[in-house]
Amino acid sequence: AKAAGKGCYRFFIPDMHEAARQRQLLESDLRVALERGEMSLAYQPCVDSLSEEVTGFEALIRWVHPDRGPVSPAHFIPIAEELRLIDELGEWVLKTACAEAANWPAHISVAVNLSPVQFKSPELPFVVRMALAQSGLPPSRLELEITEGVFLSNDDHVHEMIGSLKDIGIKLALDDFGTGYSSLSYLQRVPFDKIKIDRSFVSGASDPASRNAALIRAMVGLASDLKMQTTAEGVETKEELQLVRDLGCSLVQGYIFGKPMPDEQARALAAKGSAA
Ligand code: C2E
Ligand code: CA
Ligand code: CA
Ligand code: CA
Repeated sequence: AKAAGKGCYRFFIPDMHEAARQRQLLESDLRVALERGEMSLAYQPCVDSLSEEVTGFEALIRWVHPDRGPVSPAHFIPIAEELRLIDELGEWVLKTACAEAANWPAHISVAVNLSPVQFKSPELPFVVRMALAQSGLPPSRLELEITEGVFLSNDDHVHEMIGSLKDIGIKLALDDFGTGYSSLSYLQRVPFDKIKIDRSFVSGASDPASRNAALIRAMVGLASDLKMQTTAEGVETKEELQLVRDLGCSLVQGYIFGKPMPDEQARALAAKGSAA
């Protein structure tokens, strides 16, 4: 099928065998992608909504497949989770992000995404400590982003894990807030430093009387009562920026201030200070 080229190929509706075969190819390529140096991190600026100064960057994994080109993390992270490659991949992300961020200006933080699968590994706090120790990055400059998915496996284990991570001195953010199925009760029990309001609420919102604005307002109010910061994700336009700023989001992330970029570019932007 590969030899047939993309042009011919896309006219066929891939049957289950073909889909399974494609998937198998991707799986075996994913197993060796790290050692072949095909993975890298891109960093997206996080900006103070009022001063427009860069406060940190979110690390986002990038995989450039030798034949297929860039493969989206939304596509391969779930596969890595199923194959149990996520621990190895996640460890690499943590180590690389800490090592690269250690060369940024001292007030700039780095945020790393954690998969709920990674969160189940009892070794995670050790891996985080190692990444910090090896890089020399102070724990206060590392933020870990988890999603509501973490709370689907109820148990005390989750809260124990959060306790051990907080003990290290890192910051904790709740990612994609508002999109999950969990109740609000974990907000009461978990000492998040930050809530990241999902792009689906922000996208296209400009009218303070809209439903999305009402939802953002409620999330910001809740977060501020709980002494948590809020980041508006996926801000693309001036109108969206104006709205989330007016609604009191303290931080903003989105294409309006910068797409995910290579380490060198992130470092230069951080040194410059302002994303405007
Ligand atoms: P996420 O953590 O919610 O990351 C935000 C995603 O939105 C990123 O996509 C980012 O490039 C994109 N984005 C940022 N600003 C804008 C904007 O203004 N407009 C639009 N349309 N998109 C914007 P990306 O890099 O493709 O990552 C997708 C997801 O893959 C992430 O969603 C995260 O769940 C996962 N992911 C990425 N890197 C890692 C990683 O290192 N570890 C784990 N476990 N998951 C990761
Ligand atoms: Ca994230
Ligand atoms: Ca997010
Ligand atoms: Ca997301």
